[in-house]
Amino acid sequence: MSKIGFIGLGNMGGPMALNLLKAGHQLKVFDLSAKALETAAAEGADVADSAVAAVEGVDVVISMLPAGQHVQSLYLQGDAALFQHIKPRTLVVDSSTIEVSIARELHASATQHGLVFVDAPVSGGVGGARAGTLSFMVGGEAAAFELALPLLSDMGKNIFHAGGAGAGQIAKCCNNMLLAIQMIGTAEALNMGVRNGLDASTLSEIMQQSSGNNWALQVYNPYPGVMPNVPAANDYQGGFQVNLMAKDLGLAMQLGQQSQSATPLGAHAKSLYDLHRVAGKGTLDFSSILKLLNGS
Ligand code: NAD
Repeated sequence: MSKIGFIGLGNMGGPMALNLLKAGHQLKVFDLSAKALETAAAEGADVADSAVAAVEGVDVVISMLPAGQHVQSLYLQGDAALFQHIKPRTLVVDSSTIEVSIARELHASATQHGLVFVDAPVSGGVGGARAGTLSFMVGGEAAAFELALPLLSDMGKNIFHAGGAGAGQIAKCCNNMLLAIQMIGTAEALNMGVRNGLDASTLSEIMQQSSGNNWALQVYNPYPGVMPNVPAANDYQGGFQVNLMAKDLGLAMQLGQQSQSATPLGAHAKSLYDLHRVAGKGTLDFSSILKLLNGS
């Protein structure tokens, strides 16, 4: 069992840390939110009073922060830059969704400090984090992947080695761009069918058994009343926020531009999610894009 310093106990990091505790690891945790720390302490984690204190004497460090600037600041900036405080040969796993360029900067700096670093963003949402069924997309050396594998298996079900430094973030960008396009397309088709008199459940079933079948139709239908236990059944509360999808599409557009990849549908998806966000729907689940299409 490992001694782990865990930083960032939000919607995702909180349940991920809990699964590590359940698997028998010893955790030192830090977050800026006192409430998040209280919850982790009640589950048996040791609360540290700073990120530097959380990584003292541990074998592994895991971070799960909102965006690239937070991760960059945590590991690289100022006197409290964690890479200066983590003992050499420690495994450092960043699971936040961040820019590929920042992930690569972290890889290079970690190597200079004698640390073993992997970028390991996740898919599967808060439900997957709670159930311990996340998919991890890992970028880094093969040996680093092998080192991280048992630990990631305590928080997830499908653990992929995507390739070298930053490859996990590239895979995450590609996946979420496709997810956004697929969700918008599904909502668009359902809205048109319903406006032409079809029942949303019947149409969903027809498309599920036809060539339009996709993940949204199978497990995350955006039309209210078709499926229980999805955000559409609960006024689009919970799930994966429009704000986060807009952030991820921004990362995808950056990646497309840097690599001169044509992403016309990704760009359109980003515009639609941005419109939805500025219309005040940022905290709703991303399947609420249906509301933009049907004006509800
Ligand atoms: P969140 O905002 O709920 O949690 C982030 C946590 O980090 C907060 O508790 C915050 O207090 C803490 N934090 C911020 N700066 C800190 C610092 N300097 N030191 C210590 N703690 C700090 O976000 P989340 O939903 O848990 O998402 C985390 C990451 O996972 C994001 O990059 C997100 O894009 C990605 N992600 C989220 C989902 C999802 O469904 N929520 C799914 C897949 C991936």
